Amino acid sequence: MFTSIDPATGTPGASFAELTAAELETKIQRAHDAYRSWRITDYATRTDLLERIAEQFDANAHRLAEIATREMGKTLKSALAEVEKCAAGFRHYAQEGPAMLAPRAFPGGTATWHPMGPVLAVMPWNFPYWQVVRFLAPTILAGNVGLLKHASNVQGVAAAIEEIVIAAGAPAGLFQNLPIKSDKVAALIADDRIVAVTLTGSEGAGMQVAEAAGRALKKVVLELGGSDPFIVMPSADLDLAAKTAVTARIQNTGQSCICAKRMIVHADVYDAFLEKFAAGMQAVVAGDPMESATDMGPLSSEAQRQTVLDQIAMIEAQGGKLLFGGEALPGKGAFMSAGILVDVPTDHAVAQEELFGPVAMLFKADDIDAAITLANAVPFGLGSSIWTNDADERARFERDIEAGMIAVNAMLASLPHAPFGGIKRSGHGRELGPYGLHEFMNLKTVLG
Ligand code: NAP
Repeated sequence: MFTSIDPATGTPGASFAELTAAELETKIQRAHDAYRSWRITDYATRTDLLERIAEQFDANAHRLAEIATREMGKTLKSALAEVEKCAAGFRHYAQEGPAMLAPRAFPGGTATWHPMGPVLAVMPWNFPYWQVVRFLAPTILAGNVGLLKHASNVQGVAAAIEEIVIAAGAPAGLFQNLPIKSDKVAALIADDRIVAVTLTGSEGAGMQVAEAAGRALKKVVLELGGSDPFIVMPSADLDLAAKTAVTARIQNTGQSCICAKRMIVHADVYDAFLEKFAAGMQAVVAGDPMESATDMGPLSSEAQRQTVLDQIAMIEAQGGKLLFGGEALPGKGAFMSAGILVDVPTDHAVAQEELFGPVAMLFKADDIDAAITLANAVPFGLGSSIWTNDADERARFERDIEAGMIAVNAMLASLPHAPFGGIKRSGHGRELGPYGLHEFMNLKTVLG
């Protein structure tokens, strides 16, 4: 059984039975059968379904948002925004997707896009709808079918997505939720009826899934962790940078792969930035995620909070200093305060880890070279945010920052039309836009 626990109160919620081996087999075969007919549908059939799924997300927004808030603690307002973005994601592929599949002529032939088969998605809890939609919308448009192994703590969300897709009129087997534990994933990847796998999650899960995909010689997309830099140079609008840095660090209680986790500030503006940033972080209101005045709900579980507290303790043991915050809040629930760490030893292993909670690491850089060196001094390469109004500096950052994405004078975000993904230990492959659509398609060369 899976039992949801409300991280704001510690109260158990709904329970979900794990699939038996026979039930799992039935679902895999159903996916295989559904693919045979879905692969030959025309684009209009697929885009109509995408539009209807978007309508279902809109019509059920409040109910869906509440399920997420109760299962993983994000604020209700951010859960509602996530559900709205899901509808936009389906509409993006409905309206702009077919053009992404136009055949490309070359001398002597044409390259054409074709589906591949059932794709398995292994997804995390932090954006429990949006992560799934990033895979599902292009899957449907491509003519593939989808199977979802969602995180154990958001099985209510997983069931709700399946229900929404069915209510929108999807044929049986087009998208199925698999309530299973992660020890069943390797066998699914090895199954001949599943052609590819996409995982969003931690490095550890990424390695296991990539290994299983390698053994089976199957395509894999990995969207893993990050420790994104947020670099502030003297020419930046400091007020806006500091305000945005707060949101970029505490969004989703610090549990986003593209949260700005390391603030790297030029020495000339370090003190001024710190003053503004600290004031913003101290003003963050942690509390009931259902309340509209709350900035930050609890972490997703007590275990997740303990992981973050242990990381902070290790950084302090290595000479890092907590300026304020970064502490468990008394009472029920997995709440903690927003905080700032300084003097973090960059060469220590824990400083190179992803800090998946609302605590920023702040670094001082003497010049742009030092800022870039610090930015690249982690094993990850997911996103980054740079704050400068100097064109030459901007060009240097764009060229030299080791990341899949850069936001300039803005907070990084995952948008339906913008390719999303990382390099280094943040994974490989891209989601969203045409790139995400093409990842799991067969580009068939037709000569003549
Ligand atoms: P996680 O523990 O890796 O879990 C992610 C998913 O993988 C869950 O469904 C989990 O199932 C499953 N899983 C875990 N171990 C597995 C294994 N050995 N084999 C197969 N599946 C396995 O990650 P998380 O803690 O839930 O999520 C946070 C991580 O995701 C962070 O590192 C974050 O940066 C990353 N993330 C990345 C992106 C991106 O786009 N790059 C976006 C969001 C989050 P169970 O729940 O049943 O264990």
